[in-house]
Amino acid sequence: MDIIIIGAGPAGIQAAIHAARGKRSVVIIGKRANSAMYGAHVENYFGIPGKTDGSDILNNGIAQAKAFGAEHLEENVIGMEHSNDMFSVTTENGSTVTAKAVILAPGISRVKLNVPGEKEFFGKGVSYCAACDCNFYKGKRVAIIGDESEAAASAELMTKYASKVYWVTKETKASEMMIKKAKDSGAEMIDEKAAEIIGEGNKVTKLMFSDRSMINVDGVFIELGARSSSDLAMDIGVMPETDGTIKVNEKCETSVKGVYACGDVTGRPWQIAKAVGQGAVAGMNATEYIKGEKNVR
Ligand SMILES: Cc1cc2nc3c(=O)[nH]c(=O)nc-3n(C[C@H](O)[C@H](O)[C@H](O)COP(=O)(O)OP(=O)(O)OC[C@H]3O[C@@H](n4cnc5c(N)ncnc54)[C@H](O)[C@@H]3O)c2cc1C
Repeated sequence: MDIIIIGAGPAGIQAAIHAARGKRSVVIIGKRANSAMYGAHVENYFGIPGKTDGSDILNNGIAQAKAFGAEHLEENVIGMEHSNDMFSVTTENGSTVTAKAVILAPGISRVKLNVPGEKEFFGKGVSYCAACDCNFYKGKRVAIIGDESEAAASAELMTKYASKVYWVTKETKASEMMIKKAKDSGAEMIDEKAAEIIGEGNKVTKLMFSDRSMINVDGVFIELGARSSSDLAMDIGVMPETDGTIKVNEKCETSVKGVYACGDVTGRPWQIAKAVGQGAVAGMNATEYIKGEKNVR
C-alpha cells in the first residue's frame, strides 16, 4: 500500500480522492458514523444549497473515493508503528496495513458539559458549533457556555442572529479584547455554572444554573473546546500540541517525514470547507512524496 489515511470524514475522504486519482494505492480506515459531520445539517458548503445531511455527503464521498480505486475499512485504528521509512497500522479487528505514507485525519471531539439534558437535546437546541448552526437561531434566545475567547467570539457572532444572547461564564479566561467585543455586541454575561438543559418534546426551552435559577432559551451552544484523538500519532513520532492538535506546514506535512495531517485535528476553524481543502493538499503532497520514493528505488 502507498498511503494509509486514518479518518473517514471530509478531510480523509478528500485526501483519498486526490491520492487515488494520482494513481497511488490508498486505504481509508475509519468509521464514517463517527465523523463530526455525520449528524450535521450542512448549509454553508460550496455548491450544495439548502440543508443537506452530512451523512449523505459522506456516503457519496466514500463511493467517489472507491470509484477512483481507494479501499475503505470501516474500523478504528488501535496502534501504529514506524520503522525503516514504513508505517504499519493495526485495526480493532486485528488487521495490519503497511504503507510508505500516512495521512492523519482523525478529527476532534467537542468537550462535553456533562449535564442532564445535554445528550437528550443534542441537535434539538443543543449545539457545539455556533459558526455552523447560527443561521438556525435567527430571532431566537440562546445561551453560549464557555470561559475561553472562542466562547466570547461565539457570543458575539450569535448577537448577529439571535434576539437575545447570554454568555454563561463562571471563570472567564477570555482575553480582555474578546470580553469587550462580546459585551459591546450586546451579549449579556452570566456568572453562573450551567446545571441542566431543560426542554419540552423536541426542543430546548430553559437553561438551569447550579443555584437553580433559570433563563428561557431556544438554544444552548456548548463552547468548551475540543479533545483530539491524535494521541495515536505519538506511536509514529508525531507529538501533538498541548491542546491535542497536530501542527502542519502549508503542505500539511507534520514533523515526521511521510506523515501528513489535515482537517479538524490541525486546529480551528472546525469547518468542512477547511477540512476538505487541507485534505486535498495532504492527498496531493503524499502522492508527490510517494512518487519521489518510487524514483529513488
Ligand atoms: C453537530 C455539528 C454540526 C456541524 N455543522 C457544520 C456545518 O454546517 N458546516 C461546516 O462546515 N462544518 C460543520 N461542522 C464541523 C464539521 O463537521 C467538521 O469540521 C468536519 O467534519 C471535520 O472533518 P474531519 O475529516 O477533520 O473530521 P471528522 O469529520 O470528525 O472525521 C474524523 C474521522 O476520523 C475517524 N477516526 C478518529 N479516530 C480514529 C481512529 N483511532 N481510527 C480510525 N479512525 C478514526 C472518525 O471515525 C471519523 O471517520 C459540524 C460539526 C458538528 C459536530
